[in-house]
Amino acid sequence: MEKFRVGILGATGVVGQRFIQLLENHPQFEVAALAASDRSQGKTYSQACTWRLPGDMPEQVRQIVVQPPAPPLDCDFVFSSLPTDVAKAAEENFARAGYPVISNSSPHRMGSDVPLLIPEVNPEHLALIDVQRKNRGYDRGFIVTNPNCSAIVIVMALAPLHAKLGIESCVVTTMQALSGAGYPGVASLDATDNVIPFIGGEEEKIEAETLKLLGRIRGSVIDEPAMTVSAQCNRVNVSDGHMASIRVKLSQPAKLDQLREALASFTAEPQQLKLHSAPEKPIIVRNENDRPQPRLDRDAGNGMSVTVGRIMADNVLDYRFVALGHNTIRGAAGAAILNAELLIAMNKL
Ligand code: NAP
Repeated sequence: MEKFRVGILGATGVVGQRFIQLLENHPQFEVAALAASDRSQGKTYSQACTWRLPGDMPEQVRQIVVQPPAPPLDCDFVFSSLPTDVAKAAEENFARAGYPVISNSSPHRMGSDVPLLIPEVNPEHLALIDVQRKNRGYDRGFIVTNPNCSAIVIVMALAPLHAKLGIESCVVTTMQALSGAGYPGVASLDATDNVIPFIGGEEEKIEAETLKLLGRIRGSVIDEPAMTVSAQCNRVNVSDGHMASIRVKLSQPAKLDQLREALASFTAEPQQLKLHSAPEKPIIVRNENDRPQPRLDRDAGNGMSVTVGRIMADNVLDYRFVALGHNTIRGAAGAAILNAELLIAMNKL
């Protein structure tokens, strides 16, 4: 099978390196173009990038010359992991120039005509691509985004509960890894022996994106559920893996076993379609008292599964549990790659 030739915008960063690692030997994609800031442009990738993941920088990208994140790039579509301030215009420029843009970055996520996608949760939102093309006059191009790295983990766990039992309200407290801040991220003197109870914009993103993700598409709009969401976010001294303590009030009475069963049996379109990056089990339920833990559970399902544990009745809301996922894999590069695989399966790429 001929592979899609992909470009990566923000290729030298934390998420960009993850893209390159996950795309090595991918059956449908080959990396053809790389872009980053003017600090890196004109250099080969091996000159521009200090490789910070285990193992070596893949051979196939070492000699690719880093370009500006602007069209034209010699590729079929682009993955974007640009910083927020650069991503908005750069992604629009690519989409207008005819490139599908599959983005990790936040500026377009809440656009009313932009699919904010988790393939297991809301594949039907891809219908917004046609709305977007019509609204914006794009021809072959479009923008599809994946959610915030904590919102993905949280919504993966909420989706089966909301589908089967209904969620009226939800209170979330996150403990987020340092790699979520990019490289070099949080200064070591701030992170060591510490918890920082503020991550700019994160609480608002989780609250807004959760409702869009769990919304139902009606014609060209998304009807958000009648649910209230409250989020508090903390940066903790963990390298990778975002954890969230979640309490839910359900719309109907339910037994603990129903929650456990809804989570453990969850399977969806990516599993049925056998997409390359789809984990066999999108949610892994652990029964031990002390799981999930970032170090032990972030790589479950090659980093694409969300692990849920500590499911129990709650004295204030109805139930509580803890969810954990890998922020640069399920929360970023892996999520975008799975989005691209779904787009191919649905003949949209
Ligand atoms: P990062 O490590 O700081 O990397 C930023 C990348 O963008 C680098 O390749 C950098 O290139 C490039 N860049 C910086 N300024 C630029 C400019 N003015 N013009 C063009 N390129 C520029 O950040 P990251 O963690 O990979 O995050 C990238 C994006 O993904 C952000 O929007 C972030 O919010 C989002 N995201 C991150 C995570 C996560 O867990 N880290 C999860 C989900 C989403 P140089 O090396 O040349 O400077």
